[in-house]
Amino acid sequence: MDLDLSPEMRAFRDEVRTWLRENVPSEPQPHDGPEMRDFDLAWQRTQYDGGWAGINWPVEYGGRGLSLLQQMIWFEEYAWADAPDVGVSFVGVNHAGPTLIARAGDEQKSFHLPRILRGEVVWCQGFSEPGAGSDLASLSTRAEVDGDHLVVNGQKIWTSYAEHADYQELLVRTGRGERKHDGITWTVCDMRTPGITVRPIPTMTGPAHFCEVFYDDVRIPVSNVVGEVGGGWSVAMSTLSFERGTGFLKEQVALVRLVDQLIELARDRVDARGRRRLDDEVIAQRLATARAEAAALTAMALADVSRNARRPQPGVEGSMLRVFFSELGQRVAKLAVDIIEDEGLEARPYGLPDSYSAGWYRTFAYTIAAGSKDIQRNIIGERFLGLPRGR
Ligand SMILES: Cc1cc2nc3c(=O)[nH]c(=O)nc-3n(C[C@H](O)[C@H](O)[C@H](O)COP(=O)(O)OP(=O)(O)OC[C@H]3O[C@@H](n4cnc5c(N)ncnc54)[C@H](O)[C@@H]3O)c2cc1C
Repeated sequence: MDLDLSPEMRAFRDEVRTWLRENVPSEPQPHDGPEMRDFDLAWQRTQYDGGWAGINWPVEYGGRGLSLLQQMIWFEEYAWADAPDVGVSFVGVNHAGPTLIARAGDEQKSFHLPRILRGEVVWCQGFSEPGAGSDLASLSTRAEVDGDHLVVNGQKIWTSYAEHADYQELLVRTGRGERKHDGITWTVCDMRTPGITVRPIPTMTGPAHFCEVFYDDVRIPVSNVVGEVGGGWSVAMSTLSFERGTGFLKEQVALVRLVDQLIELARDRVDARGRRRLDDEVIAQRLATARAEAAALTAMALADVSRNARRPQPGVEGSMLRVFFSELGQRVAKLAVDIIEDEGLEARPYGLPDSYSAGWYRTFAYTIAAGSKDIQRNIIGERFLGLPRGR
């Protein structure tokens, strides 16, 4: 594998760099309320207007039709330019859109994909339930087919950004009595349909992005189903492969960047005795380890991008990247808090440039979101290494 960029890719990188330098918003990104939705969608729209939304999405649906490597170059430059978090656009851009590209019919693609890229809509993910998280196939939110509609009753939980969402990728049980992976349906749900109640769940990191969503005789046209009624498990696996495999590329690059920033921070900062934090041998060793691990993360991400460029959807190796990234994220965030010493006890709100404590709290979620680290290890063992299945 040649890790050097070709002259063509270097020119592309320069073009990205210039555009980001001129267009990254200078005002701070809101992390809560309707201002957050407005800001995040406006930023998505700016990227679209500049020709930078959906870099590897098909041209006929508003994308650029470029390669995954170019998408990766974009993420790299994006992280270095301190561009805003993808925020409320996360689900639409990173896994609902890619799932539709891979699995939906032409009409569904033509309707939804350009709206996602143009920053007109927010998507959320209705997979987890109180009794179905790691064991997603145990989900019990039911949908009865009534003529040309599904009638949905049940509850979802941990639905990020549901309060702000227009559409949801929703998993419901339409079958009865068969194996639990059968009889599941993946459908698009319009979040403004009567019968939907959204209740935010406050968390220790501050803004409530998590919600409970309740469905009371919610009528969804059968034409919203992606794939077959009852055949949604394999569509859900596509969604999770994008979420685990390519969904966090930008965050991975940002983590590599954070390690470099921490080295600078430790160089500048002195402890109570006037000693530079970098001269503390333990801190220096931890930073050196983090730098090496960040280099390993970059190499793994590039290898993954290279593999994924040759197939329609990411493979199970994404789970390796996901575990390594999420656990490294926790170690690096704890290191940041240790470098700033007792200031780390002050829980600064997320979104401030030096909010290392809030950043550390957030990393606890990394090893749970998109499937817990234990589940990812099961996947690596069983589906990648071919080890016997656990009970
Ligand atoms: C930041 C964040 C955002 C999220 N956003 C969404 C969203 O938008 N939409 C959505 O649907 N869900 C979302 N989730 C939910 C997430 O998918 C679930 O939390 C996750 O799948 C784990 O499920 P659970 O919380 O029910 O934990 P459980 O499944 O109850 O697991 C509890 C513990 O048991 C372990 N465990 C369970 N089964 C096994 C096993 N077979 N082998 C080994 N260990 C096991 C788990 O690793 C975990 O440590 C989000 C979660 C987070 C943290």
